[in-house]
Amino acid sequence: MKRVTLSFDNGPTPGITEGVLEVLARYGLLSTFFVIGQRLEAPRNAALLQAMSAAGHWIGNHTWSHSVAFGDRQDAAYAREEIDRAQALIGEFPGQEKLFRPYGNYGLLGRHLFSRSALSYLREQGYTTISWTAVPGDWYRPDWDRDFETRFGDQDWPVVVLHDIENACLARLPDFIARLQDRGFDLRQGFPESVVVTRKGRFVTLSGALVADGPPT
Ligand SMILES: [Zn+2]
Repeated sequence: MKRVTLSFDNGPTPGITEGVLEVLARYGLLSTFFVIGQRLEAPRNAALLQAMSAAGHWIGNHTWSHSVAFGDRQDAAYAREEIDRAQALIGEFPGQEKLFRPYGNYGLLGRHLFSRSALSYLREQGYTTISWTAVPGDWYRPDWDRDFETRFGDQDWPVVVLHDIENACLARLPDFIARLQDRGFDLRQGFPESVVVTRKGRFVTLSGALVADGPPT
């Protein structure tokens, strides 16, 4: 493990997201926030997107409802709705790719993640679709950071899912980042090809093990 990419999912959360932004700024890091569409109906949540973007972070679509994975509801209309409704409130951020991360159901990687129709729509709409490789469990393990290297140290370049929600990563985030930096790890904003399912609508690394009804041809 030499490089590490951190990402923050399931926000924005007023009172928490600001704290995460402050910690990232303090340590000079840029990251990506994969936001849940329906949380942006509240204007003060939507305003946090501007703060993220102004600081140089990337913003990604993490579905509208964050409730049923695409592989568990495979019709095309459902995928379109989950993607489009969120994107309509996210809007456009010039200078960054249009990012999407599917709902994973407790961070699990598996065939539930995508349906053929969801992947087809993501390609058609030109999304860069990002998965992940490391889920420390910050939302249910108070000491999620302590065994990070034991659990994920065999990965060349882990892509870590943390959460800017209440009672998740924020309390231990400064220590976690400081420790990674002290140990010489290179904390990157970008993603390794291994987690890029599509880039600007083209397949990059698509594993059939992530598609419920088999990969599209
Ligand atoms: Zn999520």
